[in-house]
Amino acid sequence: MNPVRVLYLAGSGRSGSTLVTTVLGQLPGFFAAGELRYLWRRGILENRPCGCGLPLAECALWTRIRADLPEHDPTGIAGRLVERLRLRRLPALLRRHRRGRPPVPGHPDDTHLARLYASIAEHALPGPGEGVVVDSSKLPPYGALLGGLPDIELYVLHVVRDPRATAFSWRRRRPLDGGADDRLMSRPPVWKAALLWLVWNTATVRLWGARPERYLRIRYEDFVDDPAGTTARITGFVGATPGDLPFPTPDTVRLAPTHSVAGNPSRHRTGVVEVVADTEWVTGLGARGYAVVTALTWSTLRRFGYPLRRPAVGPASTKATVSPSPVARQEG
Ligand SMILES: [Zn+2]
Repeated sequence: MNPVRVLYLAGSGRSGSTLVTTVLGQLPGFFAAGELRYLWRRGILENRPCGCGLPLAECALWTRIRADLPEHDPTGIAGRLVERLRLRRLPALLRRHRRGRPPVPGHPDDTHLARLYASIAEHALPGPGEGVVVDSSKLPPYGALLGGLPDIELYVLHVVRDPRATAFSWRRRRPLDGGADDRLMSRPPVWKAALLWLVWNTATVRLWGARPERYLRIRYEDFVDDPAGTTARITGFVGATPGDLPFPTPDTVRLAPTHSVAGNPSRHRTGVVEVVADTEWVTGLGARGYAVVTALTWSTLRRFGYPLRRPAVGPASTKATVSPSPVARQEG
């Protein structure tokens, strides 16, 4: 059996991974699957909308994929996944990784997970051994679990974004999938957002940073700056030929619907949309919040090439403020 090539977007939340995934989903041979770790709960149990707009149970593609999954218990799988991937298990996970052992201990549920990716490859990719499944689940422990599954060839795309921007973004209220859904919208204080940014980004580097053939780090800011160039880097990394890139102009992208499950509501946007930096945080994040996030993350900030000082408000931010395009606010 041919292994399934999975491009796993890893990192912390609110890093712009939704836009990157949707753009990659426009390329021939790439399937933007969305945040697959949520498939069992938000997709199968709660029947939330697929990227195509239909409830998951009514999407023809996902109906075919799900028909291949033998008897399974989505409630149990979802609950056990959450439990297996908890933050408090991270130190032990990294310890096992350092010792060359599987970072996430195996479980009978892994059969269902492996079957899911094989079925996605069968129904959504061009042919056996061809194409790439883009999984934007982000959480490093889930990526580590996938990397240990048989027949998955894992490529990790580490998407980082300035933590001052992500901390600001977490403070803004945003419905999940369009509905007023307070239950799933968390608004951590800036210090907590900064620590989570630090923990997940550091874990991503520890797990995969030493394997350049399987690990590529991009900054979301660079993606926004040069979407076509960054997309070409990503396709080269995963060993694919990009084909026609969906960029009519240097700062717009043409988006057709995808069949991604779970994630930021902006994944439902289609048509020609602007790709512009969301720099509202530069003026919107207060002095105390800015100082707290910078102090907690400074060494990693520098490692990723971010300035410690607050950037000057440039033309890009004026553009985003004067004409707030929904894509200018892409997060996720
Ligand atoms: Zn669909």
